[in-house]
Amino acid sequence: MTFEDLKLLKNIQQALADEGYKNPTPIQEQAIPIILEGTDLVGCAQTGTGKTAAFAIPILNSLHHIVGSSKKVKHIRTLVVTPTRELALQIGESFETYGKYTNIRQLTIFGGVNQVPQTDQLRKGVDILIATPGRLLDLHKQGFINLDHLHTLVLDEADQMLDMGFINDVKKIIKLTPNNRQTLLFSATMPVAIRELADTFLNKPKYVSVAPISSTAENVKQEVYFVDKGDKRKLLYHLIRNENLSNVLVFSRTKHGADNVVKALKKNGVNAEAIHGDKSQNARQRVLEGFKNKEVSVLVATDIAARGIDIESLPYVINFDLPNIPETYVHRIGRTGRAGNSGLAISFCAKDEQPYLKDIEKLIRMKIKVIDGHPYPYGSGEEAEKPDAEKKPDLRNKKKTGQGNSRKSEASKQNKKRWY
Ligand code: AMP
Repeated sequence: MTFEDLKLLKNIQQALADEGYKNPTPIQEQAIPIILEGTDLVGCAQTGTGKTAAFAIPILNSLHHIVGSSKKVKHIRTLVVTPTRELALQIGESFETYGKYTNIRQLTIFGGVNQVPQTDQLRKGVDILIATPGRLLDLHKQGFINLDHLHTLVLDEADQMLDMGFINDVKKIIKLTPNNRQTLLFSATMPVAIRELADTFLNKPKYVSVAPISSTAENVKQEVYFVDKGDKRKLLYHLIRNENLSNVLVFSRTKHGADNVVKALKKNGVNAEAIHGDKSQNARQRVLEGFKNKEVSVLVATDIAARGIDIESLPYVINFDLPNIPETYVHRIGRTGRAGNSGLAISFCAKDEQPYLKDIEKLIRMKIKVIDGHPYPYGSGEEAEKPDAEKKPDLRNKKKTGQGNSRKSEASKQNKKRWY
């Protein structure tokens, strides 16, 4: 199937051609005709499948017929609600890209920044509003937003909105919109609460589903390194330097951990930055831009901050910590190997993370390749647990002589000096 087969407007087809899109992705093939005919839709698809374009393209196509000339008074006709600022900005960019040859005006609003530029734009009038729930309700309460003319409501990353505690806000928002609206709900997973939301607020929706959560992209190579916690930063630096990795997205379980990794890498001359919830919106934006322009070569992120980050052809993802929820692993490595490009997903697994690894392998129904022969195997660092007497006779012998042990601790001290 080609985009021409979907009978889209020429000016939208041109914008897609400018982007180098040749064929619709599976979610686009399924969702675009349904959205164009005005039917409600539940889309089970995760980031990386082309789901943003799957709703943005038909919405722009339909709006172009309504909005036509730019002289008409503008009303909000489409509202996209999404959980994070980063996602909101990316969706806004997508609408701008695909709608660049139309007169459709769009605005992205989110909290944590001054509201005045946002309210100025709202006063001028917009056709499409992309918003995070809190700021949307806030500006609505202040009288800046009128949703009476809404045609289409998009609830994006619904499961994430649920996880982040936005479900009541989402219900409030739905109630502010006209009953005869078209509703599109996208979610990577379909927990009961999301099904209930769809049953309550959608009108005879059609269901489309691509890439179930348990599947990992075939073009992503997956590797695991067994390494003690205290050696992870050294191993990361070793890989970045020796394998000459750049454009690397590193996942850390905690904000504090992300900052520490960045500090250590910076000390060693690697241009690394962290992105997480404690950073101001402007700082996050700057870092993301720097990473996209390749000025920042390593981006260290927490899961929430990284959710939805859309960077084309991201070659490497490193799980500095393994996630305790196996689905998160699939989300994380979904950042690489997109749109036909190959990717490498490396995971660091400390001893206490081995149960997580087992859960992940069960979910993805495959064994991840273990990389042996790296410089920091279990038991090689200063803070390592006592080597297992049965399994590691060589280390046990060194210990007996005392000499090997002191050499080892000298090397560790040097490593420490470099690293802290
Ligand atoms: P998303 O799932 O919306 O985050 O999109 C993932 C990536 O796929 C984005 O970088 C899009 O620009 C890209 N993309 C979306 N649709 C297509 C397409 N039909 N052909 C090639 N790339 C696409």
